[in-house]
Amino acid sequence: MPAVTADPLTLPRLPRLPEADTGWRRVAKVVTAQRHLEGEGFEVRRPFPGMDLSLADPFLLLDHMGAVEYAPGEAKGTPWHPHRGFETVTYIMDGAFQHQDTTGGGGLISDGATQWMTAGAGIQHIEQPPPELVAKGGLFHGVQLWVNLPRAQKWVPPRYQDIEARDVTLLAADDGSSLVRVIAGSLGEHQGPGVTYTPINFLHATVAPGARLALPWPREFNALVYVLSGRGTVGVEEIALDEGRLAVFGGSHQVGEQDGLVVRAADRQPVAAGSGWEILVLGGLPIREPVARYGPFVMNTREELIQAFEDFQAGRMGTVPAERVPHRSAADTSLT
Ligand code: MN
Repeated sequence: MPAVTADPLTLPRLPRLPEADTGWRRVAKVVTAQRHLEGEGFEVRRPFPGMDLSLADPFLLLDHMGAVEYAPGEAKGTPWHPHRGFETVTYIMDGAFQHQDTTGGGGLISDGATQWMTAGAGIQHIEQPPPELVAKGGLFHGVQLWVNLPRAQKWVPPRYQDIEARDVTLLAADDGSSLVRVIAGSLGEHQGPGVTYTPINFLHATVAPGARLALPWPREFNALVYVLSGRGTVGVEEIALDEGRLAVFGGSHQVGEQDGLVVRAADRQPVAAGSGWEILVLGGLPIREPVARYGPFVMNTREELIQAFEDFQAGRMGTVPAERVPHRSAADTSLT
């Protein structure tokens, strides 16, 4: 897994959390991702929705794409489709993905880069593997995360951020053994590059075999760990967590100076996992508002969903550029 990588010994280290004075979060639930077909027919593993979505708040969806070795002609994406009321965050670890949207935003992301699209009041976009990847095939591995917007921000103007791999904040575990990539949010004094409306942390960690990783965690944030590859345990309870599984943390075992998350990579990792246990660590400030969702629209009420469909059909969510007339209709609004 290339993503962006570095020797942890050369990086700033996370603070050592005091064992007895940290509010270690307990593991509340473990969920296995379900397989779905998306867009033009690519497979994703989806840990949520599918569980009680209030546990994931402010997140709405997590799709794990790959890792897959595409044969020539096999890589697929999505046609043009609309969104309103939330943000899509696409992080590519291997291979590449191309994005274009009706605000003029877009670009090619690969190997550790992230595209962050705030749909806000409404946008249309297309997400495709680049022609070279389609023609030649190759390794592809990425995730797409949906982050909800609170009622007051569902109507913000759409926005696009391209976060290059080199912009990602790289940190080492307190013992220098593991690598933590901060894509958005912050760990201690270290900020990631993603600009978010809803306060969140979005991290990708490579935990060295046998190593323990402890992260300071905001008390008001929820916390989720999803396994991209390899195996390990989560929490002081050491609950096993393998590829394709999600752990949902609850409150802490004890009141401490501050909250913390602790995970540990198994001593022996599957060969396919490469150098370590690859995990996403997510959390944010729960929005705690009613969620009305249908396909690509996520609002607070059913009336707002109906309005979203009407606005889309009336052309009020941007115009697909003429030079890239889609070969498929954007009318199928059930797509992500
Ligand atoms: Mn989309």
